[in-house]
Amino acid sequence: MTVSLRFSAPRRWALAVAAVALCGCAVNPVTGQRELSLVSEQQELAIGAANYANYRQQQGGDYYLEPELSDYVADIGRRLAAHSDRPELPYEFVVVNNPTANAWALPGGKIAINSGLLRHLTDEAQLAAVIGHEIIHAAARHGAAQMSRGMLLNVGLAAIAAGSQGSSAEWLGTASQYGAAAWMARYGRDDELESDYHGIELMVAAGYDPEAAVELQETFVKLSEGRNSDFIAGLFASHPPSQQRVDANRAHASALGVGGQRHADRYAAATAALRRAEPAYRAAELAGKRLAEKNYRQALAESDRAVERLPAQQQFWLLRAAIWRGLDEPSKAEQALATAISKNRDYFLPHLQRAALRWQRGDRRAAADDYRASYRHLKTAQAAYFIGMAALDAGDTASADSYFASAVQLGGEYAQLAAAERQKLRN
Ligand SMILES: [Zn+2]
Repeated sequence: MTVSLRFSAPRRWALAVAAVALCGCAVNPVTGQRELSLVSEQQELAIGAANYANYRQQQGGDYYLEPELSDYVADIGRRLAAHSDRPELPYEFVVVNNPTANAWALPGGKIAINSGLLRHLTDEAQLAAVIGHEIIHAAARHGAAQMSRGMLLNVGLAAIAAGSQGSSAEWLGTASQYGAAAWMARYGRDDELESDYHGIELMVAAGYDPEAAVELQETFVKLSEGRNSDFIAGLFASHPPSQQRVDANRAHASALGVGGQRHADRYAAATAALRRAEPAYRAAELAGKRLAEKNYRQALAESDRAVERLPAQQQFWLLRAAIWRGLDEPSKAEQALATAISKNRDYFLPHLQRAALRWQRGDRRAAADDYRASYRHLKTAQAAYFIGMAALDAGDTASADSYFASAVQLGGEYAQLAAAERQKLRN
């Protein structure tokens, strides 16, 4: 599966890595082969831990609708990780509230499965194939190897877009992550094959039927063929699922011998609510497409169907807010965002979007509250800049300067505005 990574690595990591002598060879704990490694295990763990919460926010926030589903996934993850070559890693497993079929692993064993992927699996063994694959990315230090190749460091949060139009995934606020491959690093094709191969061994060690890993790859091939919208296609852009991976898994699975647990009933029970909501997610996906086409009236009608069926899903209210913005109805957009926030306060995006609307209509105090709420969950240059501006309103230049400094560090469009404000403060 395609795994995308980007880090807000603190500057000190860049320096630490640069300071390491050039021949930092290490033995890959999974394959036993020697390879280039400029990142120590300690740095690897620190980078994973420092970025896990941020990255979950960037991908949609935790799947708050059913905490027990995350517990279920984490339980399978722990059982698989116990059989890995690095059972001592501080593994964590969460379900992320994101409708696209993806999963990812950060260095040090910080793993996430999208709720949208769970919709496409049919039993627990297939889920074990996903998680096993991600555990191998972490255990085999694929992320650390990429950092050593200079691909992951110093990538900031600048490209977080709040409210920009133009993609069917825009309403999630994560459109830029699917579209802007230039600042996304992904695992290489060899890393994917290695994770497939050793992931199957983890599954078998934990008692699962390895045939499920073949079916998983077939599902991905089907998903990437059947949907030509950028909603799915963008995810597979750099490393498409392939018949090669299906065949490789089939050969390995049959060599290991078919048989083992599937736990289809247990999986069906754990994902029952998600499956019942399938028509709501389909309606939202359609609404997203209509939104991207600027067909706002139809988008609104589809989003009605989504919120009627699953009003607790915050994403659908974000979608409605995006549609209202398209219709140039900012007060209705703000209302939809208030509902989105009432469903789940722990996701940065509805706070950030409502802040922008409040600022535009001149309620800078209320806007600043929202910017601060969004900033607590995810530090963006946009929030830092406007919190700084609100501090200027209040006459607190010291606080303003420090927020502007944060915005500058985070980079992007608002970093330039913040730099100009800092300059003014010094004149
Ligand atoms: Zn992968």
